[in-house]
Amino acid sequence: MAKLLEGKPIAEKIKEEVKLKAAELKSRGITPKLVAVQVGENQASAVYLRSQQKVCVNTGVDYQLLTLPESISQADLAAEINRLNSDSSVSGIIVQMPMPAQIDGRAIQALIAPAKDVEGINPTSLGLLVLAKPLFTPCTAAGVMELLKTTGEKLYGKEVVVVGHSEIVGKPLALLLLAEFATVTVCHIATGQRGNLPEHVKRAEILVVAVGKAGLVKGEWVKEGAIVIDVGINRVGDKLVGDVEFDEAEKRAAWITPVPGGVGPLTVAMLVRNTVVAAEKT
Ligand code: NAP
Repeated sequence: MAKLLEGKPIAEKIKEEVKLKAAELKSRGITPKLVAVQVGENQASAVYLRSQQKVCVNTGVDYQLLTLPESISQADLAAEINRLNSDSSVSGIIVQMPMPAQIDGRAIQALIAPAKDVEGINPTSLGLLVLAKPLFTPCTAAGVMELLKTTGEKLYGKEVVVVGHSEIVGKPLALLLLAEFATVTVCHIATGQRGNLPEHVKRAEILVVAVGKAGLVKGEWVKEGAIVIDVGINRVGDKLVGDVEFDEAEKRAAWITPVPGGVGPLTVAMLVRNTVVAAEKT
């Protein structure tokens, strides 16, 4: 039976470190501040925004939610980002997705000054990640790396399979794993469509799934003794579940993340950690 790889205690430790760092910065006259930009109101991001605010308040990081009108133009939104870029009281900026149809969200994210890109998702940040010299690492991918660290397993030469190749999770994670010399296979929609997903999952010593489809990975595919990190969050009835069939996978894996309570708590912890790092550099 697998050991549970819980994110909460690791996130608490990181938040304690952030709190100490924020206090130390304040004693030097620097107040770390995170600004979250949202356009219109979005139900889907409300939970994430509340949790950002709570973690910032608890760690001594100033937090501002800047809600702009749903009808804002690309040029006006770009001007807001430029204003925040040049505001020296702002340490970190995050742009909440999704955006309304008239906005090119990627182009807006690309305007965030690299030194304030605490989500690590603009082209400069991702380019630095390719060079294995990240300024800021995308928060969820960084959270997965923290979870892997706590298992004590060496990544060097390990067969790691990442399912999902999004810009915020799968791709940056594959780069972080490569930097540790893991042997990384990235699976995506075409892998599934060709019916090849089971064969890749079955040989994974470390399996990370970030897709957003409940039950996509069957528990019986999981290799005996594997480490399973389930990033997916899916609502099924009144329950939240991941992408991996937990009950069966738990019998085979050495370590497995619960959903919720696995990767989730680490994402916001990484965001505030990046914010104090940004504040220190400004
Ligand atoms: P996303 O942008 O929708 O990416 C999903 C990825 O899965 C895409 O690369 C997609 O490939 C791939 N995919 C879709 N169907 C597949 C299949 N049948 N077989 C293999 N790959 C398939 O999602 P995301 O933002 O990365 O998030 C993924 C999941 O993680 C979601 O459930 C999200 O809620 C969760 N999440 C959790 C946290 C957290 O803090 N715990 C943070 C971020 C995300 P194509 O693009 O080729 O279709």
